[in-house]
Amino acid sequence: MPAELRYKPVGVCIYCGRRPPEVELSDEHIIADGLQGNMILPASSCKGSKSCAEKTSRFEFRYINGAHDGLKTYLGVYGTRRKKNRKTTIPLFVSEPKDGAPSKFAGNLLPSQHPFISQFEHFERPRIFTGNPPPENVKMLARLWNSKPLKNYPAVNGPPWIGFEPVVRTLSKIAHSYAIAEYGMGSFSPLLKETILNDRFDFDDKAWSMFIGCETEIPKYPSLNLHEVSIEPVKFQNRFLLFCKIWLFSSAESTPIYEVVVGEHWNSGFTPRKSVVPHQLS
Ligand SMILES: [Zn+2]
Repeated sequence: MPAELRYKPVGVCIYCGRRPPEVELSDEHIIADGLQGNMILPASSCKGSKSCAEKTSRFEFRYINGAHDGLKTYLGVYGTRRKKNRKTTIPLFVSEPKDGAPSKFAGNLLPSQHPFISQFEHFERPRIFTGNPPPENVKMLARLWNSKPLKNYPAVNGPPWIGFEPVVRTLSKIAHSYAIAEYGMGSFSPLLKETILNDRFDFDDKAWSMFIGCETEIPKYPSLNLHEVSIEPVKFQNRFLLFCKIWLFSSAESTPIYEVVVGEHWNSGFTPRKSVVPHQLS
């Protein structure tokens, strides 16, 4: 695992705008520690009860462990605090595909051999680019891994679907914190604060799909990195947008690249940067 990438401390909460001494600030992992993210934005998220740090870690935990526990285990991805819980083998239980059949122990398997289903929301492109109405349905991209040990027991349960909230909030938080790390507080008008923090935000009407979507094509080949993120300013119909791409579990096959429009500059656009490269995370 490569060393941490630490950005310049911010000194104010990047979500609610409060600063010391009113609040204490904690360091933010741009991609969660639980996903082995190693980019850190120091002094950037208020901590304590009902703080932004508490809210963001709660939805990230729901997303990472609710939707992607199978892939995490398969790839051996553990946060720095949970290294001790690393699983060396996992018991496999199988049952006949009929109601009420008891499940049988079928052996202990390495995490890399355990059957599971990975499942990702495959959104359309952000609607700001397409002008489309909010989609009626969202496609799920599912893949069965390690079917071999199942032999005559072909059914595997996928992870339960946990709704749009955890995935949309997590993508928004990654893009927002990364944009501030790279471009600085106040260099753009943030578009995603509501989707990150507002407790009453309605995720079912898919208004968020204006700014959050996916590349249409699924990458044919996985990357050598565990995750990849990149950000760049784009000019679109006289608007200057800050555009972030987030490819979680890029080292695994069948994972989509999310596209997030994170902010806007009202007049002259962003200061051009020399180069924008995806950060290699692992
Ligand atoms: Zn805050």
